[in-house]
Amino acid sequence: MKNRINVTKCFFPPLEEYTKFTEIIWNNQWLTNNGELFKELSKKLKEYLEVDYIIPMTNGTLPINIALNAFAEEGEVITTPFSYVATTASIVWEKCTPVFVDISPDYLTIDESKIEEAITDKTTAILATHVFGNPCEVDKITEIAEKYNLIVIYDAAHCFGVKYKNNSLLSYGDVSTCSFHATKLFHTGEGGAAICKNEKIYHEMFYRHNFGHNGPLDFHGLGINAKMSELQSAMGLSLFPYIDHIINERKKVCQFYDNKLNFKDYRSIKIREFTDWNYSYYPIIFSSEKKLLELEHKLNQNNIYPRRYFYPSLEKLPYINENSCQISEDISSRIMCLPLYVGLEEEELNLIVELLNE
Ligand SMILES: *Cc1c(COP(=O)(O)O)cnc(C)c1O
Repeated sequence: MKNRINVTKCFFPPLEEYTKFTEIIWNNQWLTNNGELFKELSKKLKEYLEVDYIIPMTNGTLPINIALNAFAEEGEVITTPFSYVATTASIVWEKCTPVFVDISPDYLTIDESKIEEAITDKTTAILATHVFGNPCEVDKITEIAEKYNLIVIYDAAHCFGVKYKNNSLLSYGDVSTCSFHATKLFHTGEGGAAICKNEKIYHEMFYRHNFGHNGPLDFHGLGINAKMSELQSAMGLSLFPYIDHIINERKKVCQFYDNKLNFKDYRSIKIREFTDWNYSYYPIIFSSEKKLLELEHKLNQNNIYPRRYFYPSLEKLPYINENSCQISEDISSRIMCLPLYVGLEEEELNLIVELLNE
């Protein structure tokens, strides 16, 4: 195979559709700070995602930091070891203490039945990831949070467009954070958003993402800069008409894998019942790390580069180094995501499947 096939490929809308929006920026002579395109994108996202309070930001990590800064009070934060490093790093960065609770071996989300035993009088928040767009057991987590008076933050970086029990998955929790990074399903180059449960939380998050401003000369409190610019908003707006196309094309690739892979030395993950999924990733879990490395090598030799999402299990990070999460550690060592993007050709897919089934 001549072309290198990576785990993902960024979606580019036609250039003239992007420049249509940059012309508006040039006409307005306005580059950031609540510009016309930022407002338009916020409105479109609110409608598409069916949420009431959303703040687009400059990436998907700062909304996690800001939510923890606002609500976790440097306490213990119950979290998942199976996610991207940003989830744990944000906790440590905000001077909170991560307390890892192992994951469900089927869904790979935090094991809700083990959360209560991890709660102490220092616990202030739960930060869980809907990993690969697969929902956590949100109803049970809400129940626990209410019982112990904890804030719930979801790292929903993978959840663009996912519905659970007919609601937007982003509408669960006090704050959900989304990533619009170039490699994600919907993107603004770099970008992200905070989705807030109510107006009060929205205000707490909004002023913090803009230096604490509450008007030009007035400050509500401490803040940082996480504002999304007009150029980022232009990318989001020009990509918007393609979202359904993107999700459909990805769905076709996932169905191809579902039908053609033989699942002998590997299995796929289980998507939680009542989920309308977005086909954001195609992870497979091998019978052993050895098998994974063997097949990864074989694919690499054919110029195909899947990615080991997520490795290592986060309690093993050099600044954490705990020993508590055996299921996550085990799964991290033998899970890999297959190439999945718009424009992956049948010939390429056939080769991937052939190599994995051999
Ligand atoms: C991508 C990702 C992030 C970080 O988002 P950025 O927009 O790159 O800052 C956070 N958590 C998870 C699970 C991710 O996959």
